[in-house]
Amino acid sequence: MPTVYFEGHFVDEREAMVPVATHALQYGTAIFEGIRSYAGAGGTLIFRPDDHYARFHRNATLMHMELPQSPRELTELTVELLRRNGNPGDAYIRPLLYKSSTKIGAHLQPGETLAILTFVWPPTPLPPETASATFSHWRRFPHQACPAGAKISGLYVNSALAIDESRRRGFDQTILLSMTGEVAEGYGANIFAVFGNKVVTPPDSADILPGITRNTLIHHFQECSDLTVTVESIVPDRLYEADELFLCGTGLEIRPLVSLEGRPVGSGAIGPITEATARWYRSLVTGAIDAPGGWLVPV
Ligand code: PMP
Repeated sequence: MPTVYFEGHFVDEREAMVPVATHALQYGTAIFEGIRSYAGAGGTLIFRPDDHYARFHRNATLMHMELPQSPRELTELTVELLRRNGNPGDAYIRPLLYKSSTKIGAHLQPGETLAILTFVWPPTPLPPETASATFSHWRRFPHQACPAGAKISGLYVNSALAIDESRRRGFDQTILLSMTGEVAEGYGANIFAVFGNKVVTPPDSADILPGITRNTLIHHFQECSDLTVTVESIVPDRLYEADELFLCGTGLEIRPLVSLEGRPVGSGAIGPITEATARWYRSLVTGAIDAPGGWLVPV
């Protein structure tokens, strides 16, 4: 059984149990992260853990949760946890901070528990699998209702309903629009559209969760001399004119969308910019090319 970090200790996963009255289970009052480690040529590397834990901290503050460990200390705990789990190389790391009170009442009661879980998780194949997409009829919740940029567990009901509906209708992926009808994102990933040599992704004001992968790719495209990248509002029908579309996120990595509502996107196959981006991303996260300082943390 894997070891997990739970209530301040490294314990067997079977010991990490929560009472059914737990606030987070009743009301969705938890925050989480999704981080990846990769088996690189020189050993295991965790990709941008400090940035993930910085977001975790911001979300904890938003939810009035105490998180005594700094992002650096959380990264160190994660390194230790991966070691205790036999350093699996390719892994998915799930930190969770949840409201642990067992008293009934939705208000943000004091008391939270930190858990960190790891899962063996091989990287996606290269070139990546392609996917069909549809627009979800569920809209992305607006920031006036909930903090749209935060990874709060309860808010993922929106993602769950959207992808469930799209899968039942026979599509692999879903695209959510904002309440004002702009393209927002996937159910757990951001979206990029390619028009010629122009790469476009929606802004925070479309109520997206601004992902760390999206941020990584924006930096990358800014450095590509043959491409321009802009963060701008996208109306849904503009996606039908795109040469290439892809989703990106820590879990999904780069996922080409080759059809939208049954219409082919561009050539109907993975496009050259998407494929090159997926290959570049893999080189980056495995340490095969130079990454900015602090992005890759060895285990
Ligand atoms: N949007 C949503 C709703 C997500 O859950 C995720 C995954 N965290 C993303 C975008 C992509 O974020 P990241 O690149 O930081 O994994």
